[in-house]
Amino acid sequence: MRAARFGLLLAAALGALAQEPYELVLRNGRVIDPRNGLDAVLDIALRDGRIAAVGARLEAPGARGGIDLAGLIVTPGLVDIHTHLFASTGIQDAWAGDQSVYPDGFSFRSGVTTMVDAGSSGWRNFETFRHTVIDRARTRVLAMINIAGLGMLTNIVEQEPSDMRPEEVARLARKHADIVVGVKTAHYQRPDWTSVDRALEAGKLTGLPVMVDFGYFLPERPFWRLVTERLRPGDIATHMFRAMVPWVDANGKLYDYLHQARRRGVKFDVGHGGGSFVFRNAVPATAQGFYPDAISTDLHGGSMNAAMMDMPTTMSKFLAMGMPLNEVILRSTWLPAQLIRRPELGHLTVGAAADIAVWRVLEGDFGFADVAGGAIRGNRRLLCELTVKDGRIVWNWNARGATDFRKLGPEYGAASTVEVIVRPPE
Ligand SMILES: [Zn+2]
Repeated sequence: MRAARFGLLLAAALGALAQEPYELVLRNGRVIDPRNGLDAVLDIALRDGRIAAVGARLEAPGARGGIDLAGLIVTPGLVDIHTHLFASTGIQDAWAGDQSVYPDGFSFRSGVTTMVDAGSSGWRNFETFRHTVIDRARTRVLAMINIAGLGMLTNIVEQEPSDMRPEEVARLARKHADIVVGVKTAHYQRPDWTSVDRALEAGKLTGLPVMVDFGYFLPERPFWRLVTERLRPGDIATHMFRAMVPWVDANGKLYDYLHQARRRGVKFDVGHGGGSFVFRNAVPATAQGFYPDAISTDLHGGSMNAAMMDMPTTMSKFLAMGMPLNEVILRSTWLPAQLIRRPELGHLTVGAAADIAVWRVLEGDFGFADVAGGAIRGNRRLLCELTVKDGRIVWNWNARGATDFRKLGPEYGAASTVEVIVRPPE
């Protein structure tokens, strides 16, 4: 009897919850959500910062806002796993640091809702990074800690083996488990494997993936050995299309070591950046079906003002190289979320955080450059029209959802208990 009554109460509570109005309904967009196998014209309803419903022509009694997205593409908010965001150091010198930028100024306008800082800070200054940037950003910022104590403050500090301390990285990774998603090593110039080995040691201690920017390419430690012998399953080789990475043999066929590495479970990240992407490598790789596990920017003050620009531009390069749109979306959302082991991100499942990007596919004749003066042309380019983070509109390029100002009354926007409009005498 008591159980039956409890059941009734529960049903009533659930009923009340179901009638709670949605806060926002995104209507009629082509929803591409690779995690859930969705590619169809659907509505998405949001409530309390989460996805509340996904379906065709959703009933939404009492919904406070609806936005028509007919003709546009709706995807999960992008997950960019290679960025540089320790901007509070103030260092903008191309030769003496990572040229970090503040996250919110660059994320939402390009459809990105999650950014991973790739080792701009090390174990000595990670907490400063957290307090001055990560905790103050509206963008969801996660981080890989550099094995070098001072991170990328300068290239010089990444060369000092005595400051590469796996146990310190592990201590911080445990303390900040809510945001630390990996270990990074980069820019190493010596002919030994010390920086890679120390980073891998930290990876073992933390249970997190290691991302390697191989630094200088030297005969003593070839790239093929990094990906077929050193890196573990789940570890990430970034800057995959760098000019120094050997991709094709004399016949134009991809080297077998790349397939071997992938079979071992090693992951490949674009990390375009200011110096790490040439079409000479990316075009044959794409044509032969060797797609990146993550499309990422390596965003910093140098790359954003050069050939890289932003995520939509980088993604559009893959469209221009012939990768299908759904694959481009998959590799910018759900796959990178899995690489950083955050399976709650990168999809539009009911209950997930309402992180959403809305795209216009521009059609025309567009040029795309690489970092070494190479170019290709394409006929599509992605433009971010709208971004939603945790259910709130954070980027609204086309003023969708706003009302014609003439319909808002003679004094709209002036309602306040403190300020009054002081009119001039007539
Ligand atoms: Zn980088």
